[in-house]
Amino acid sequence: MRISQAQLVLQFFENNPNRDIETPEIVDWVTSEYLRITGKPFRDPDRQVRSLYSQGKLIKIRNGCYRYEPGYAAKSVPEEDFTAAQKAEILNLGGYRCAMCGLTESDGVELHVDHIVPKSKGGRATIKNGQVLCSQHNNLKKNYGQTETCKRMYRVLYEQAVELNDEKMLEFLNDVMEVYDRHGINSHIDWRPINQRERSMK
Ligand SMILES: [Zn+2]
Repeated sequence: MRISQAQLVLQFFENNPNRDIETPEIVDWVTSEYLRITGKPFRDPDRQVRSLYSQGKLIKIRNGCYRYEPGYAAKSVPEEDFTAAQKAEILNLGGYRCAMCGLTESDGVELHVDHIVPKSKGGRATIKNGQVLCSQHNNLKKNYGQTETCKRMYRVLYEQAVELNDEKMLEFLNDVMEVYDRHGINSHIDWRPINQRERSMK
């Protein structure tokens, strides 16, 4: 019987669907199975796992932990929701606070677990791609995206700093906005405060 290393690793995941699997568990099984079938050692099972992941066949939960979900690979743009366990972990890591305003449920806001890179843009359901947001900031981000939301918030800060004559804050914000401009990020949003925009139009 001939079987490739990749086929064997995939077979392991197919036999263990819908479960977060740590790589050592895979390594033990595939190395002994490969030896039994082919009589040859299996040298780098980790690499085969990462390769299956890069082909979109596995979901990466975190480094060294992957999951196989039947039908997942068939989707051209994989859309993933967080599991209840992932949501709990993201909430915990985020200190049960909105990442933008810092409010908590005891302040009366509803907290959501958000994909930093949205699902529609291929963002995966990984702990790294999760953040806690209140309803208001979740909606803001849904409409505008992460960088755009931040730019709009910086603009509010800018107007406030002009009002308060806060030189230190203005200096900081000028630097931040210069970075946005330099990288051409969200250049459709004019970040200068309204009074300055009016001045420049005259
Ligand atoms: Zn918020």
